[in-house]
Amino acid sequence: MVWSMMYWGPPRPRHKTMATKKTQSKEPRCSFCGRPRSAVKTLIAGPDGMSICDECVDICNTVLQHPDSPRAQGTATAASRQLAVPKPHEIKSRLDEYVVGQDRVKKVLSVAVHNHYKRIKSRLAGAKDNDGVEIDKSNILMIGPTGSGKTLLAQTLARVLDVPFSISDATTITEAGYVGEDIENVLLRLIRAADGDIARAELGIIYIDEIDKVARRMENVSITRDVSGEGVQQGLLKILEGTVASVPPQGGRKHPQQEMIQINTENILFICAGAFVGVDDIIKRRIGKGVIGFENESRARAHKKHLVMPEVEPEDLIKFGLIPEFVGRLPMVAVLESLSEDDLVHILTEPKNAMIRQYQKLLQMEDVELVFNPAALRELARVAILRKTGARGLRSLLENLMLDVMYEAPRRKKAGRFVITEEVVRGHVSALDAEEKIPARPAAKKLDAAG
Ligand code: ADP
Repeated sequence: MVWSMMYWGPPRPRHKTMATKKTQSKEPRCSFCGRPRSAVKTLIAGPDGMSICDECVDICNTVLQHPDSPRAQGTATAASRQLAVPKPHEIKSRLDEYVVGQDRVKKVLSVAVHNHYKRIKSRLAGAKDNDGVEIDKSNILMIGPTGSGKTLLAQTLARVLDVPFSISDATTITEAGYVGEDIENVLLRLIRAADGDIARAELGIIYIDEIDKVARRMENVSITRDVSGEGVQQGLLKILEGTVASVPPQGGRKHPQQEMIQINTENILFICAGAFVGVDDIIKRRIGKGVIGFENESRARAHKKHLVMPEVEPEDLIKFGLIPEFVGRLPMVAVLESLSEDDLVHILTEPKNAMIRQYQKLLQMEDVELVFNPAALRELARVAILRKTGARGLRSLLENLMLDVMYEAPRRKKAGRFVITEEVVRGHVSALDAEEKIPARPAAKKLDAAG
């Protein structure tokens, strides 16, 4: 099941370049409410790739015939009716299909995302809700080692919610005037992911990776980059808080005569992520402070990284180099654990699009069966842990391991079965030699001309 996040508001001026930019694989959508063709009864196509669904036509009719109706006055009412907010347990169970482990993080994310879209719904309902309670926007900070699933979690969330999703790397963003990308490019990426549909983009998710790399570090000296990282944090702060930003449609640097796309970031969910190497020492120091007595539980905890990381507090992040206002804009913090050997074995085989399943599917198309025996899986996990690259390491290990088979399989004209063993993973036997010898089928008897 896919939940659609929909916006119903006055039609927005669209920038031509963006509106015409369509990705071929995407299902056509209503340009007004954003729902895909499969979710509506009729979708009427117009010029320039624009479309409208039957329900939106219906709403337009009401608006034209009864300009004083609630639909015409507050189109938000329709939006709140259509905005389906999945429950936290529903979000989590979808995350479980794709992401192994990280149970607590999945819960934190599910609740945060649920509340985020509930907040949008309540804002859209606006007029009716005048109890004075305004729900704060809660962007998310994910802290975890490389290859532990941060990007995958954010990506999966966007898929579950069927909202546009984009990834940006904080290290490529710089303060205006320095060499690098403008902050607006972060928004442009989301607009592109929404096929130029600004209303849809305004309900999307932006993932910003390597956020720890823009921490204030006074020791770095460079004349081309914003050395302190503080300028980037300040710039991001504005879009995280919610602002109407002007984005140059072609990307790159802004220049005065350019036509701009306006996008409101108030309802965009920002998920920032980073490894924050060294923050555990800051936490340890804080926990260790004021602790007297060797047997103290806190002190014992202060020595184990995986135990101290969940104790991270805003003050630790500020000490690490994030500015207080920026930390304040990321109220939900989710800490990911390093993946264990068992987790890595599961990652190889269990998620819906597990890496091994993908190889099996590709080879199946060539009539080739691929089998990994349990010892081979464990060996792969063991090597990935040694490399300290988490599940990311698994992918590169597999790519190297399977290269020859993937290269040769399409040009062979026969079926086969490859059994990957521990020996193959260790490099003692090549994967090509792991083909099981299938006893040759007895040649079909030639029909006796006489018989
Ligand atoms: P990070 O962003 O934490 O560095 P990624 O999410 O990019 O790591 O992970 C890299 C790849 O490793 C993913 O595409 C996915 O295939 C796999 N992976 C990582 N963590 C998990 C996990 N917890 N469950 C399933 N697959 C994972």
